[in-house]
Amino acid sequence: RKIIIAIDGFSSTGKSTIAKKLAQILNYIYVDTGAMYRAVTYYALQNGLIVNKKLKEKALINKLDDINISFKYNDKLGYAEVYLNGKNIESEIRTLEVSQFVSPVATISEVRRKLVQQQQLMGRDKGIVMDGRDIGTVVFPNAELKLFMTASAETRAKRRYEELLERGQNLSYDEVLENVTSRDKIDSTREDSPLRKTEDAVVIDNSNLTINEQVNSILAMIDR
Ligand code: C5P
Repeated sequence: RKIIIAIDGFSSTGKSTIAKKLAQILNYIYVDTGAMYRAVTYYALQNGLIVNKKLKEKALINKLDDINISFKYNDKLGYAEVYLNGKNIESEIRTLEVSQFVSPVATISEVRRKLVQQQQLMGRDKGIVMDGRDIGTVVFPNAELKLFMTASAETRAKRRYEELLERGQNLSYDEVLENVTSRDKIDSTREDSPLRKTEDAVVIDNSNLTINEQVNSILAMIDR
C-alpha cells in the first residue's frame, strides 16, 4: 500500500537527505518543494523582478503564468532535478543570493497557491515523499505519515556551510548562519501557511542521529 510521507521542518534540518533515501528504498517519488520556491525566486532574479534588493511583488504575480516548473529524474544522482521552463537549474537555485530572497518570495499567496496546486497533483497517485514547510499542514493534511525534523541552529548552519562549500561556494559560517535563522523567522511567522508542527506529526531531532539511524526508525513506522 503506497502512502504519502510529508516532511516539514526548519531550514537545513536534513529533510531532503532523509526524504531522498526514503524514496529510493521505498521506490517512491521524491519532491523537493523548496526547489520550486527557489525556482520562482531564480526566475525573479533573472527577469529584473528583484532590483536593488527590492522584490517587485505585483510584477512577479503578473508573470506567474510564464513560470513552468518541472522535475526530471536523473539516474546518476538517483533523484529528480528541477527545471525552469525546460532548463535544468538545480545548481543555480542553491546560491546564497537565491537563499536570501526565497523566503520573501514564499510569503506571496499567489505564489503559494500555484505551487501547492502543482504539488497536490504530483501526489495524486500516492507513493510520494515530499519535503517543505507546509506539507503536513496545507499540501497533504491527510498524509499517512508526517514527520517534523529539527536540529540545533548550529548543527544546521554547519551542515549548510559544508554543503555550500562542496558546491564551490566559500561563504563565511556567519553569513550562512544569518541566512538560516532569518529564513526560519520569516517561514514561521508569515501569514500564509506558516511553518508549524501538526499534532499528528512525529518529531525527529537529528542533531545526534546518523542518516541510517533516522531512516531505519522511520521505515519502522511504515507498514510495508
Ligand atoms: O527547503 P529549502 O530550504 O530549499 O526551501 C527554501 C525556502 O522556500 C524556505 O526557506 C521557505 O521560505 C520556502 N518554502 C516554503 N514552503 C515549502 C518549501 C519551501 O515556503 N513547502
